[in-house]
Amino acid sequence: MFPDETTKSFLRRLEDANAVRPGELRKALQKIPGSWIETISLWCDQPLVSLDYAMPQLGLQQHGLINPRHFAGRRAHRVHGLACHRCALAHDAGSFVEIYTTHQHAICPKHGLWIGEGTATPEDQLSIGACPEIPAAWHHHKNIIQRQGHTRTRKAFETSRTINWQWYDQFHHFTHTAGFYDVLASSGSHRASQQALVAASLYPAIVELTAALASPYWAKIAHSEHPEAFLDRVSTSMAEGWRPAGAHDPLRSWMERNWDT
Ligand SMILES: [Zn+2]
Repeated sequence: MFPDETTKSFLRRLEDANAVRPGELRKALQKIPGSWIETISLWCDQPLVSLDYAMPQLGLQQHGLINPRHFAGRRAHRVHGLACHRCALAHDAGSFVEIYTTHQHAICPKHGLWIGEGTATPEDQLSIGACPEIPAAWHHHKNIIQRQGHTRTRKAFETSRTINWQWYDQFHHFTHTAGFYDVLASSGSHRASQQALVAASLYPAIVELTAALASPYWAKIAHSEHPEAFLDRVSTSMAEGWRPAGAHDPLRSWMERNWDT
């Protein structure tokens, strides 16, 4: 079993292992009375409690069989992503395991792989070994969560991601992002998708802006009548001296409308 695996992914692997046609197990589950988790527990000869612990959402779907304590500190079960394919292989789960994931699961520190945005296949999980700024940003990301809490950080990260992608689309990128892109693209990640490469390259900038947006102190300045100090911080710490301006700038738009609260 793989922690936080989606029910769909687990059923697909169970079908593969038993040479059953895709979709057959789900159909069978819909016909069999009783809870899915109990039936699956019989099929794969795993105790209910282990399944429940690895995949709390599977228990939750089934009439409150789940022990709510298993959810404490677990991931918000909304976003799906691929587990690190090398971790999945090490679990004897094949290389393609879908899990419930969150914004901070951007890299696998054990295997030095990008597992965040844009990774739809194991090939997209590109090596970040040549780019130590990405693991450094990930540690920063975790520190922000410690300081500002999960909810504030999640909202700030989403806002920062939107802003950075819009800046990227408007005028490509700042020099540091372009530098990370070149390093990653030339270090054997040629099979990774463009989206994964760009997302990994933008990640340090996204985290940097997340820190400013998640801080109540800086957010207050940003939304005040005198946001100059906030703009200076953004300009020097991540925008290479450029100052976001104009009605169409996504950061100025956030400053005026504060979308994430
Ligand atoms: Zn891994």
